[in-house]
Amino acid sequence: MIEFDKVQKIYPDGTEAIREFSLKVEEGEIVTLIGPSGCGKTTAMKMVNRLIEPTAGDIYINERKVNSYNIHELRWNIGYVLQEIALFPHMTIGENISVVPEMKKWKRKKIRTRIDELLEMVGLDPSTYQKRLPRELSGGQQQRIGVVRALAADPDIILMDEPFSALDPISREQLQSDIKTLQKEIKKTILFVTHDMDEAMALGDRVCLMKDGEVVQFDTPQQLILNP
Ligand code: ADP
Ligand code: ADP
Repeated sequence: MIEFDKVQKIYPDGTEAIREFSLKVEEGEIVTLIGPSGCGKTTAMKMVNRLIEPTAGDIYINERKVNSYNIHELRWNIGYVLQEIALFPHMTIGENISVVPEMKKWKRKKIRTRIDELLEMVGLDPSTYQKRLPRELSGGQQQRIGVVRALAADPDIILMDEPFSALDPISREQLQSDIKTLQKEIKKTILFVTHDMDEAMALGDRVCLMKDGEVVQFDTPQQLILNP
């Protein structure tokens, strides 16, 4: 569960990126956050794992204020997928996926099993791909690794910030359907940022429309079609 309670963010230069922002993402739900460039989507997202601190208001994860968690504990329990592919270039795919499980001191055998399971989930043969370097994969495949890496240590919450923006339409559709499948299988709480309305409607259990740092509408895709 992720909750924003009357959150505001004013950057040091005076830009009010978020104003009176309240939003609740229920456990096991995908909420898509959509709005024009500059409306505050990324700022909202980064406050959840405390890459940015709010100026006012509170953010809760599972009923607990985010600033009451140990910062490592908080970030380990939140998978974060960025728009730019951010795999470690000198590590193999397997090593990339292992980073957080290793920090959490998972046993080797458990990590190995997890890598196989995740690669299979996104249709990449483990024996072929786990020893490869990121540059030996296509852009779409790298993005898929970015997604499963965020899931590796089984976080409760996943934040995705335009993870498909750099992809061609076919890889994009493939990944959208991967996320839907993952969601059904593992029932994660997901906050997904996009500026693509079709993507927001296709992926979201509920869709939050944002403008100028505020929520304009928050409803199911069906209701948004009926009451545009
Ligand atoms: P979005 O993700 O919807 O494109 P952002 O959250 O990136 O929006 O930005 C919201 C607003 O805050 C924009 O006006 C942006 O220019 C401004 N902004 C973002 N980051 C900073 C920063 N570090 N300092 C000052 N202004 C910022
Ligand atoms: P997005 O593509 O999500 O809208 P941006 O391209 O707006 O992100 O921002 C990229 C980075 O630049 C972010 O880390 C953001 O915090 C920072 N940034 C954006 N706008 C400003 C600004 N006006 N002043 C300082 N930093 C900014």
